[in-house]
Amino acid sequence: MNGGRDVDIAIVGAGMAGTALALALSGQGLRLALIESRPLLAAPLPAERDVASFDTRVSALSPESVALLERLAAWPDITAYRHCPYQHMTVWDAEGTGHIEFDAADVDCAALGHIVENRAVVNALVGRLQAAGDVRVVAGKLAGLARDDDGITLSLAEGEKLRAGLLVAADGALSSVRSMMAFRTREWDYGHRALVTTVMTEQPHQHTAWQRFLPSGPLAFLPLPGESGRPVCSIVWSLQDALADEVLSLDDKAFCRRLGEAFEHRLGRVLAASPRAAFPLRQRHAVDYVQPRVALVGDAAHTIHPLAGQGINLGFKDVAALAEEVLAAHRRGRDVGQLEVLRRYQRRRKGENLLMMGAMDAFKTLFEQQALPLRWLRSAGMGAVHRAVPLKQEIMRRAMGLGG
Ligand SMILES: Cc1cc2nc3c(=O)[nH]c(=O)nc-3n(C[C@H](O)[C@H](O)[C@H](O)COP(=O)(O)OP(=O)(O)OC[C@H]3O[C@@H](n4cnc5c(N)ncnc54)[C@H](O)[C@@H]3O)c2cc1C
Repeated sequence: MNGGRDVDIAIVGAGMAGTALALALSGQGLRLALIESRPLLAAPLPAERDVASFDTRVSALSPESVALLERLAAWPDITAYRHCPYQHMTVWDAEGTGHIEFDAADVDCAALGHIVENRAVVNALVGRLQAAGDVRVVAGKLAGLARDDDGITLSLAEGEKLRAGLLVAADGALSSVRSMMAFRTREWDYGHRALVTTVMTEQPHQHTAWQRFLPSGPLAFLPLPGESGRPVCSIVWSLQDALADEVLSLDDKAFCRRLGEAFEHRLGRVLAASPRAAFPLRQRHAVDYVQPRVALVGDAAHTIHPLAGQGINLGFKDVAALAEEVLAAHRRGRDVGQLEVLRRYQRRRKGENLLMMGAMDAFKTLFEQQALPLRWLRSAGMGAVHRAVPLKQEIMRRAMGLGG
């Protein structure tokens, strides 16, 4: 049955989802390949802790994502480099009195989550993959696919061909596998961009994730492990396209002033900022995650508004579910590319991803409303959630991936 296949599973994309999946599948007797068009990291990361030395792409990892990285033995390398646990979260409405405070002690946890730099996560996973030694890493760009009953052939732009029993697309929001295999998606543009940068603030961040909902979109200050006396935060600021252009074009001094005002100076003045980058915000969800011999994971399957920091947390859950289904089928001697095997993965993940995306969309719409009765309802609702301890604990447990 496996005749002619170079590998059992080819994974395209060595971002956080693809590297985690390769590692989760390694050591089980499967022949694996990981294909990536950019240089893989595993190079020394900066040791300095000034604003310019942090990756502008950071993620708030839930305790459940941390547990996965622990099982993959990658978490110690991430913490040995640097990370910032946060025990509190403060969310407030710019247009009213509504606010909610979350505290790790309310759910008997040491931290609500951990802020990590994306490149540090990939680097740690690549380091473990190199140590595992059974994943063939291929430097190349996927350029073509041909599927038949017995396998799928990948053609790389560099000329190499590779035949696999299963292809997993972990190639991100603009997945080329998804378009080559004509997976249908539902998507909509928010007309917003996420501006990201790293800033130094006058006052310490208090290991708190801060989020202010402005009519123009949410603004988050996420704590990073800066030097003592030089507090550093990562910023994700969602802005309408025209406003994003305006804010991007400000000089550093004017930008820091504008950002401080938008944040109501909760951490004093913003003293310095690293170069700014902006990403278009588009919600996207594949109608199906699987076809015979193909599965989508992570951002290739779903791209979600970053306001609740759930994108890679959902992606890691995809990785865990797909790895479990594939390994169970492999142990039973089944062909892991068969649709019945892959459908089990889709059944486990699609509903939850859809629910989270719907919730983020509803949040975003609610906070954009300017009508007075809605603003009043919003403030009253936030106050009610803040006081309703069991409800607040339930929201926290779900956001932390601790189950309902
Ligand atoms: C501003 C912002 C803030 C965010 N904050 C959070 C947060 O706090 N918490 C959270 O959970 N999520 C967050 N997210 C979401 C998170 O960043 C993504 O969900 C995550 O990075 C997706 O990882 P991935 O591995 O699926 O895809 P990617 O990181 O996009 O990796 C895809 C990989 O595939 C490779 N590739 C693509 N095409 C090809 C090809 N044809 N051939 C070979 N290789 C290819 C690419 O080079 C890349 O390395 C945020 C997103 C944004 C935009």
